[in-house]
Amino acid sequence: MEKVAPIVSLVGRPNVGKSSLFNALLKKKQSLVSKVAGTTRDRHYDNLFFDDENFCHLIDTGGFFASENSNTPFYKELFAEVEKALEESDLILFVVDATVGLHPIDKEIVNLLRKKEKEFWLVINKVDHHSKENELFEFFSLTDKYFLTSTAHTKGIESLKDNIFHFIKELPHAGLPKIENSIAILGKPNVGKSTLLNALLGEKRAIVSDVAGTTLGPIEETFYIDQECYKIVDTAGLRRKSKVEDELEELSFNAALKTIEKVDLVLFIFDGFLEEISSHEKRLLDTILEQGKSLILCFNKMDLDVNKEKIEQELERASWLHFTEKVFFSAKYDNNLDSLKKTIKRVFKYLYQTVPINKVNTCIEDALLHYPQKSIKIKYSLQIKKKPPTFLCFCKKPELLDNNIKAYISNSLRKVLRYPSTPIRVFFREKA
Ligand code: GDP
Repeated sequence: MEKVAPIVSLVGRPNVGKSSLFNALLKKKQSLVSKVAGTTRDRHYDNLFFDDENFCHLIDTGGFFASENSNTPFYKELFAEVEKALEESDLILFVVDATVGLHPIDKEIVNLLRKKEKEFWLVINKVDHHSKENELFEFFSLTDKYFLTSTAHTKGIESLKDNIFHFIKELPHAGLPKIENSIAILGKPNVGKSTLLNALLGEKRAIVSDVAGTTLGPIEETFYIDQECYKIVDTAGLRRKSKVEDELEELSFNAALKTIEKVDLVLFIFDGFLEEISSHEKRLLDTILEQGKSLILCFNKMDLDVNKEKIEQELERASWLHFTEKVFFSAKYDNNLDSLKKTIKRVFKYLYQTVPINKVNTCIEDALLHYPQKSIKIKYSLQIKKKPPTFLCFCKKPELLDNNIKAYISNSLRKVLRYPSTPIRVFFREKA
């Protein structure tokens, strides 16, 4: 697994409740099974979010031998899993079963865990209402850092999660990364937004269909392009397939506005049968750009017999969208999605650039040389913000500058600094 965030692993014998604990921590009904890059085994893993931005990777190491019955010699694999967890994790949660008591294998696992100086906590699971503390006494001898949980009664889960957060926050080397790359998928119903979401999430597709029809608050899903992590914000509307309302009606327009505010990039989806960009779509597209968000125009269902010429004609008419990247693909058949991923990556790469002050000034000076109105003089300029890219130009009497020159400078900066698909903001200040 590519380490982007700290790793917390669940280890323990089969049937002690690792998967239930994994799901309880993630607040999921069913765990995901995903292939971890670089291994041939199936393991359960997901990102455990502590708040909007902070997360760690949570791995349930049990998947490999969960189907084995206890007569088969699975211990070799179990110990191999513990060794691996010791290698890659920042924290190990060693899960034991309160109802069966201390198993000889549990003692062996603890011996293994103690050998390395890796933080491990004992999670005594299945501590239901009737469990008596004195029955758990033998577990307490293993370590003094233990938690009592009952996944069946959601007992002790929040406290465990809080402790994980506090532990991880203090890690000197790892810290908690923030996923700063946030994306929204917008567009009319049936253009293929959910299909694209599934395609981007890849093996996580199961979750999307699992929760279809349920009412969920804002949801964030993460996916990777190469080693970069991206979050897709507020996919709730995408998942609620039963809610077949017109998403571009007023109500969902407001929901879309809220989503736009939260993200850096919008993937705006049309299908290949686009004839005309509707007024609703125009309103949304305008808002995206006014808010300084990056925008990629996506044309889906290109596997069908679509009229690409019609699309090109409509795009030609929409001159205000000329600077945005256009990507044509088929989400359903994963056709040309690589091109979309590359474009997403490129948009963010440029969003994070810091433009040296002399580069900004040279760019504006050069641009003004080619501007018909020679009297305009900018004293100096600098970048004041990255997302959205914002520049400040100092000049005499900025109130006399019209929108043409403002748009001209903004376009020149975008071209020279090669910002793909991103509106550039330029402000002018008085400098005598
Ligand atoms: P949403 O309402 O925008 O989320 O659209 P969905 O993702 O639910 O897709 C609507 C329909 O279009 C479904 O029947 C999909 O299977 C189909 N669809 C989505 N993407 C493609 C595609 O690339 N090609 C084809 N042929 N059908 C697609």
